[in-house]
Amino acid sequence: MLMPDPDQAMISRKRELVTKLREIVPGEGVIADEDELRVYESDGLTAYKQPPLIAVLPETTEQVSQVLKFCHEEGIKVVPRGAGTSLSGGALPLADGIILGLGKFNQILEVDFDNRCAVVQPGVTNLGITKAVEDEGFYYAPDPSSQIACTIGGNVAENSGGVHCLKYGLTTNNLLGLEMVLIDGTVLRIGGKHLDSEGYDLLGLMTGSEGLLGVVTEVTVRLLKKPETARALLLGFSSSEAAGELVAAIIAAGIVPGGMEMMDRPAIHAAEDFVHAGYPLDVEALLIVELDGPKAEVDHLIETVSGLADAKGAVTKRVSESEEERMRFWAGRKAAFPAVGRISPDYYCMDGTIPRNQLPHVLRRMREMSEHYQLGVANVFHAGDGNLHPLILYDANKEGELQKAEDFGSDILRLCVEVGGVLTGEHGVGVEKRDLMPDMFSDIDLKQQQRVKCAFDPDALLNPGKVFPQLHRCAELGRMHISRGQLPFPELPRF
Ligand SMILES: Cc1cc2nc3c(=O)[nH]c(=O)nc-3n(C[C@H](O)[C@H](O)[C@H](O)COP(=O)(O)OP(=O)(O)OC[C@H]3O[C@@H](n4cnc5c(N)ncnc54)[C@H](O)[C@@H]3O)c2cc1C
Repeated sequence: MLMPDPDQAMISRKRELVTKLREIVPGEGVIADEDELRVYESDGLTAYKQPPLIAVLPETTEQVSQVLKFCHEEGIKVVPRGAGTSLSGGALPLADGIILGLGKFNQILEVDFDNRCAVVQPGVTNLGITKAVEDEGFYYAPDPSSQIACTIGGNVAENSGGVHCLKYGLTTNNLLGLEMVLIDGTVLRIGGKHLDSEGYDLLGLMTGSEGLLGVVTEVTVRLLKKPETARALLLGFSSSEAAGELVAAIIAAGIVPGGMEMMDRPAIHAAEDFVHAGYPLDVEALLIVELDGPKAEVDHLIETVSGLADAKGAVTKRVSESEEERMRFWAGRKAAFPAVGRISPDYYCMDGTIPRNQLPHVLRRMREMSEHYQLGVANVFHAGDGNLHPLILYDANKEGELQKAEDFGSDILRLCVEVGGVLTGEHGVGVEKRDLMPDMFSDIDLKQQQRVKCAFDPDALLNPGKVFPQLHRCAELGRMHISRGQLPFPELPRF
């Protein structure tokens, strides 16, 4: 993995930088000791490790602003970090840069039931928001499997999703406002408690910006009322193709389930061995379809989906009759990643998105790739969204297997793009998919995206080495070619 060359002159200034940063963030908020810095050397993409030069843990927006202003003036690179659960290496540090940890921003600032929103600091965990409002019958909808640990700031930066995002939307659909600090220290407020904002959709732009445009210091999220009831169907199929056809049939019937998840045979077996959820072991694919809403509507939809499942040849069918049984259906799916961790020394979790109707074709091609690379793969999908999470099984202790797993993963992502999908569904680009960006975007697309980056961070100090395979100098991107002395579009105002 190629990262920007570390600036040795900056590394040699470490002591001086630590002294200056301690003037801004006193006490234990600046970490310089090499052993203590190891805590930050990696995120959820553990194949890559790099301790930062310094870690800074501010507690107030004013401190974040001053730290960024200082870094801007001194040309120091900054990698923002929440809980470090990113699976794409988004929070991977740089040897000559600081890690800006937002863990101390862990307060729920306001719960406003009248406006159905909560104002929280970015280090609050995703699940922490729901915990704060569930007694009043409310919740925060996007639910990444990592929700017990990941922070809402990280969710905003990655536009994270989860099982319930098919019906209730990703992070971007559940945000109302942000406070952000730009690299020059400017504190910016976007949106608020109101439903829409004037001007460009900067909230949309910031969501999923992977720490490249600014540092989130406050988040206003939508709260939803918990559905009156929820029931789930557990459906087994003799082929993934048949399960895929049911997914298409449910959506075509105009039904939007609260969640619709699929697992293939290796994932089913791993999950059942781990949590004993009662999954059938003689099927090739398992679908969990959850319907939620008023009781009468849910009962009706359960019957409709059940009928569609029969028509598509479901070989096993169970409907949850109690909350406990519904939770048991989900227990295996929610534990699928650690369950796969028990059957293989290492696994590499991919994240691509495809048009739903391409699922059978993509699964077939993935099986061929699995044979070609001689590596197993277990599949877990957000089937309703077409978001795939193939888990490639390998052993890092065997020479060359990590590289083989990465090549296999890259081929899967290229396949997603080839069939009309995209490189990532919810885990972000980070360093993991950075070098595949040209497979999806043209040179012009990438340069236009970088012009947006330049507007916010002209010196490329925020999270460099992530998302873009090649960072162009902003001055170079601003250049205009004039042919035979003729200014293009002379009627346009020039700034
Ligand atoms: C077991 C497991 C299961 C997972 N399941 C899911 C899932 O179901 N769905 C899903 O979407 N993801 C999932 N993830 C991935 C991960 O949890 C999410 O990407 C999450 O949003 C990262 O949050 P974090 O606080 O850990 O951020 P970090 O990993 O610390 O950072 C992620 C990115 O956000 C940036 N960032 C963090 N905080 C800020 C901030 N305050 N301001 C600006 N930039 C910031 C960082 O620079 C980095 O680029 C899973 C991860 C694991 C380990």
